[in-house]
Order: sequence, then C-alpha cells, then structure tokens
Amino acid sequence: MGGSGWGSLRYIKRFANFGKNYYNYQTQAKSRVSPTDSTTHSIQPTTQPTTMFTTAFLERDATAGNQVPDNLYEAIAALKEELNAVILAHYYQESEIQDIADYIGDSLELSRRAASTDADVIVFAGVHFMAETAKILNPDKLVLLPDFNAGCSLADTCPPDAFAQFKAAHPDHLVISYINCSAAIKAMSDIICTSSNAVKIVSQIPQDQPIIFAPDRNLGRYVMEQTGRDLVLWQGSCIVHENFSEKKIVQLKIQHPEAEIIAHPECEPPVLRHANYVGSTSALLKYAQASSSSTFIIVTEPGIIHQMSKQANDKTFIPAPPTSNCACNECPYMRLNTLEKLYFCMKNRSPEITLPEDIRMAAWRPIQRMLEMSA
Ligand code: SF4
Repeated sequence: MGGSGWGSLRYIKRFANFGKNYYNYQTQAKSRVSPTDSTTHSIQPTTQPTTMFTTAFLERDATAGNQVPDNLYEAIAALKEELNAVILAHYYQESEIQDIADYIGDSLELSRRAASTDADVIVFAGVHFMAETAKILNPDKLVLLPDFNAGCSLADTCPPDAFAQFKAAHPDHLVISYINCSAAIKAMSDIICTSSNAVKIVSQIPQDQPIIFAPDRNLGRYVMEQTGRDLVLWQGSCIVHENFSEKKIVQLKIQHPEAEIIAHPECEPPVLRHANYVGSTSALLKYAQASSSSTFIIVTEPGIIHQMSKQANDKTFIPAPPTSNCACNECPYMRLNTLEKLYFCMKNRSPEITLPEDIRMAAWRPIQRMLEMSA
C-alpha cells in the first residue's frame, strides 16, 4: 500500500492513542427545542446516547406554539430550499422519511454522501452516531438530528472509559472500530469500518499485526470467520439483531421452503448459520434484487423492506420474527425519528450535533482511513 495505506497507518496510530485522555467529552446540544415524541414502541430505548450533553434536554415542550403544517412534504421541501439542506436517511427509517430523503443508504454510503455534499445543512435521519459522523466529516456545516434521543444500544455497550482501559491492556493492537460507536470511541481507533467493508479492511492489515475489533462481537466473529484472522473482540451487541429467534426463523423456512434467508452480520452465529446470504443492509438490498428467488426472509431491521419492495415489487419479503411477541425487530432508536420531528428540526435548526474540535479531528482520521481503504 502507498501513502494512503498501511505505512501511513503507523503515523495515524500516534494520534489515535491520545484518545484515552479525552474519552469523557460530551456531545453538546445547542438548543433545547425539540418536538414532543408521540411515537410508541414495544421496546423503548432505556438509555440516552452515551455522548449526550444533558438529560435536561429531554424535557420536551418545544411543540408549544409549533403547528404541524397541513402539508408536511411541501413544508419540508420549502425548508430544504431555504436552508440549502440535504436530507440523508438510513434504510431503517420509517417509509415516509425514506421517501422524502435525498439519499438513502447504509452507514458507508451515507458517510460518503456526507463527505461529498455541498449543502450548508445536513439533516441526518438516522441515529446519533451517524449524525456525529456527518459532523466529523463536515465541521463547518450545521448537522441536525430529528430526535436527539435517537441513540444506539450497540454504541452504548462501549463506554469510552472502559474502552480506554481495554485498549491500554492491549498496547500493541491496532484498533478497528465499527462505525456504530460514539465519536469518543472513533477518536481512540486507528480505522473505522462498516458492515459493508469490515472484511475488506481487516484483510488489508498485515498478518502479524494484532487487532482489537469493537464494539460489535457478532460482526467481529463474522469477520474472523471470513478472514481467518484472530481478533480481540469488544463484547458489544445490538438489541435488535440479537433478538431474532432462531426457532421462529426455522419455522418460517419450513412454511416457506422456497424462501432464501438473508441476514445482517450483527445477528448471532446460530441465526447466521441458517442464512443463504449474509451482508450489510446495502448488500442485502442488492442481493434481493439480483437473486432469482421470489421470497426472502429478512433478518435485519424491517425498515429495509420498504426499499426492497420498491426495487422488486413482484417479490415477497418476510420480516424475521423476534424472540417474543413484540416489535423488537424494529430499532426503537431509529423509529424515534418521525416526519414531524424532521420538519421541526429544520424549522428550529435544532437539535444540532456539535463536537469538541480535538475529538472531531481524532475521530476524522480513522474515518478518512476507512474511506481510503474501501475506495
Ligand atoms: S439497529 Fe442496533 S446497531 Fe442499528 S441503530 Fe438500532 S440499536 Fe444501533
């Protein structure tokens, strides 16, 4: 590899090592204006993002005096023009948000969009770490998140202070972190990866270089299988992807023997064992479109089915069931965002994602490394 490859990683490592002194930074919310959450879910987020500035922010009264316009779509389009804004939405967002977005994608695609946009304002319809990533790549732009409580159970399983100790216990290890982590963890990492490029990135690291992989143990195990590498895994996981029932998936397969099971690598190994195909959300979408099969059992957040159905409306997509009789296969964090909140965040220019510059710079380098290594 040349200057953008392994050689310059050694240079980057000097910067990433500083992270442990800065882990206790907190992302700041500049305003407390936020619309009332009227969403109900079978499971609710039990924690706020670990990077959250203040719980007082959660005291919401911002809809007072705020009228929901009759035509939300038109109102959002007008604000988009007024702000010169771009709306980025993750595949796990509810359908109406996906339909109004300028770009829909997985974490890697949205990172690339965020890195290349010439808009003045980025409205990130996703979760907190995704909006943080957009801010890391665009320090001079206003980055808005419709609901500041849209955190991530996986990111929350990796507290920066504990991770700093874990890293210190493995001083010779390169740190590769899945993008589903806070800016503080990114700042302590050498390279960021997504589920789309994790295998490709780990494969580029010399065999004799030991690696810590964080925070998702299931993706880490999958990468170990695919690369034959021995990784030191942080034991984090996602409440949504760990909730799929192997037993119910097998029962579904018996009812639909013609169906292909396609799964996200954040799922646990017993579930992945039954999959005909394992891939990132984008890869699952492409696979479902290209495959000659007509029926699929989808083992990831069912928000992706909206795009799958749009791209192949003659095919049948069956969401894999969770262990209990609940909607636990829907990400309760992603689903906090609504079209109304998207409108209000643009109208109020809040909640805004901000980061201390030293953390932002330290987190930028491993993201940049990922973009170079996965080009
Ligand atoms: S699906 Fe899991 S990993 Fe993705 S945002 Fe939700 S909690 Fe986080």
